[in-house]
Amino acid sequence: MDKTQDSKSRSIRGIVPENHPRRESILIRERLVEAMEREVVVPQGLIAQGRGECFDYLIGEKTRDFAERALEVAAVLLIEAKNPVISVNGNMAALVPREIVELADAIPAKIEVNLFYRDEVRERAIEKVLREAGAREVLGVGEDASETIPELFSERRRVSKRGILSADVVLLGLEDGDRTEALVRMGKRVIAIDLNPLSRTSLTASVTIVDNVIRAIPALREKVLKMKSLSREEREKLLKGYNNRDVLRGAMKFMSERLAQLSLDL
Ligand code: ATP
Repeated sequence: MDKTQDSKSRSIRGIVPENHPRRESILIRERLVEAMEREVVVPQGLIAQGRGECFDYLIGEKTRDFAERALEVAAVLLIEAKNPVISVNGNMAALVPREIVELADAIPAKIEVNLFYRDEVRERAIEKVLREAGAREVLGVGEDASETIPELFSERRRVSKRGILSADVVLLGLEDGDRTEALVRMGKRVIAIDLNPLSRTSLTASVTIVDNVIRAIPALREKVLKMKSLSREEREKLLKGYNNRDVLRGAMKFMSERLAQLSLDL
């Protein structure tokens, strides 16, 4: 962050009262706007965040049981993968760069820049954010993104040969449905972090963590550390007992019951 941005974000912190009920969410928005000014996030990314915030409201902005179950299984898949890759877009780089690097180190996994609106200036801006956060290697930048995901068109399909193309497990957040479907069709296990349990990504992924990336990425690192101490049999049991549809049903049920309860409390 340069000096002007730093002082700007400090002044926003000063304006929003400590006890403002939406303080965190306002500060997060500010981070995304600043990231857009640095070409890390595109305007569409701000709209995607707005869609996510709506679902975060419905779950009460907390990591719930249905997310905990998905986080455990996601951690097992990542630990046991041969080539796990964390796919990073502009919003993720803006919101949780250090946490992504810490998660990648804990697994260990590769980090790849993967953008819906790909261009080299943005790729490099995101790479810079990740390197400043401690990443030693960032795939999917420039020539490295020279391979393609079959059945997808335009720049959306470009990936790295050593990264997503050859990955057996891919972790992604705020992803669009077409790309998630294409990765699943390629035989990859896809772990999605998506606040909307109704999105195509949520419905298609192998494991869907219905939670905000702000909470989910650090929580996933904790689970990775915890799952590493489990035996192979215990991990196997977790994988066998997991059903992603049940988790999505759980999320939808939670949202509807919470809304019903809130309507009674009015
Ligand atoms: P799909 O193509 O999968 O049906 P979509 O068209 O809604 O989904 P996008 O507009 O790219 O996809 O939005 C990305 C998704 O990320 C949305 O479902 C949104 O709810 C979710 N999302 C936004 N912000 C966050 C966040 N901070 N943490 C987790 N999920 C988020």
